[in-house]
Amino acid sequence: MSDAIEAPARLDLGLPWHNSFAALGPAFFTELAPTPLPAPGLVCGNTALARELGLAPDLIGSPQGVAAFTGNLPLAGSRPLASVYSGHQFGVWAGQLGDGRAILLGELQTPAGPQELQLKGSGRTPYSRMGDGRAVLRSSIREFLGSEAMQALGIPTTRALCVTGSPAPVRREEIETAAVVTRTAPSFVRFGHFEHFAARDQLGDLRRLADYVIDRFYPGCRHGERLAGNPYAAFLEQVSERTAAMVAQWQAVGFCHGVMNTDNMSILGLTIDYGPFQFLDAFDPNHICNHSDEQGRYAYNRQPNVAYWNLFCLGQALLPLIGDQELALAALESYKTVFPRELEGRLGAKLGLGRAEAGDRELVEQILSLLAADRVDYTIFWRRLSQHVAGTGAEPVRDLFLRRDDFEAWLRRYGERLDRAGRAAAAQGMLRSNPKYVLRNHLGELAIRQAKLGDHSEVETLLALLQAPFDEHPGHDDKAGFPPDWASQIEISCSS
Ligand code: AMP
Ligand code: MG
Repeated sequence: MSDAIEAPARLDLGLPWHNSFAALGPAFFTELAPTPLPAPGLVCGNTALARELGLAPDLIGSPQGVAAFTGNLPLAGSRPLASVYSGHQFGVWAGQLGDGRAILLGELQTPAGPQELQLKGSGRTPYSRMGDGRAVLRSSIREFLGSEAMQALGIPTTRALCVTGSPAPVRREEIETAAVVTRTAPSFVRFGHFEHFAARDQLGDLRRLADYVIDRFYPGCRHGERLAGNPYAAFLEQVSERTAAMVAQWQAVGFCHGVMNTDNMSILGLTIDYGPFQFLDAFDPNHICNHSDEQGRYAYNRQPNVAYWNLFCLGQALLPLIGDQELALAALESYKTVFPRELEGRLGAKLGLGRAEAGDRELVEQILSLLAADRVDYTIFWRRLSQHVAGTGAEPVRDLFLRRDDFEAWLRRYGERLDRAGRAAAAQGMLRSNPKYVLRNHLGELAIRQAKLGDHSEVETLLALLQAPFDEHPGHDDKAGFPPDWASQIEISCSS
């Protein structure tokens, strides 16, 4: 018998770790372990992502996997920490925020490249302020399904590996239960990380952070001739372009983020922090999906301008490094050309237009204003239009409009334009640009209600549909239909 003290149990994922963010030093984070939760169980796992990351397929559902991804069992090689950032919330400087309920476990070297692993809802940190450090099951399922839906739509996003749940009570408007989402991304650095060090005049740290992000993710910025060869200006320009491309995709698919605070903006141009997000039902350009957003700052049609406003904050934070206001402004200018170009390209693809022609913009603007005037269901319109171009009659798409004559007139002009693009090629492209399935609020809500009763099958069904949103999935048409009347009553707020 040996009486040696046993080392604490650790789970080995079988992949090397290289915790580069942790190497930045203590100005950037506080090292701490997640706070365990009682009686954890798997709510949903993403086997497709596990495979991409080179993780053992049965890991997520195993007792050790569930324990590790709840924060109850350390991972060998990980170096858990909460990072510090600041930010502008609803247009107002909010000062220090930080990972109040997230723990960065570290950076795993995977077949899909380096990926950071982060737990969300894993307990209090020095940045929790008044919060409890927890996330509820409802919002965790929404983040899991929402981010995987975006990924399958080809929209840059953080990913979600699994959700685990616990009976531990969490107080929101009512008592709910705790859950943890395991998220992955090459980096979780936000605009707010840069704002933090700029606001405190910690210019050495600001430069260290910028150099870190540039060297890892934007190495081309070191060698360019553009913007007077200034690497920090080139960096701002690249982030502006990625953000522009991402927001153009949001607009085209009808995605509302809901809380575009600068601390919720990824430095890699990824969709991040799924809170009160929504995929549009009826097309209402002024739609506000976040019930806490009384002024409509983050309404659907304001997202492009808000993204620019946020980039401007990033530009201000980077100014001490760029050293020249004119250069910073010139770097931001790229947003104003890239966003409209990307949006035009995305909407052109939704219409199957092929190579751009004069008059395309009018065609797009006219259909968007008809959709808005009749509050037509956005996703159903585009899918039915695709099917019409693929050869079914015009009835199903025409039926969506009250102003039939206006729509008929548009359809005639569109038909002439399509004849030049080639209908067969157009139809094929449209059916891959216009999803049949998106994560509508009511679909998520129904799956969440069942999950609260311990039945996770609906979450799994939705995941399978959303991971292949352009496929028909016979037998699931009910999930591609109009929202029920009660859908508009669903209130999604910042409380998550
Ligand atoms: P969000 O609007 O969800 O992106 O969160 C803004 C800030 O509040 C971030 O610093 C979060 O970490 C923090 N936060 C949100 N919810 C909680 C919570 N339940 N406990 C601790 N911090 C939270
Ligand atoms: Mg956030």
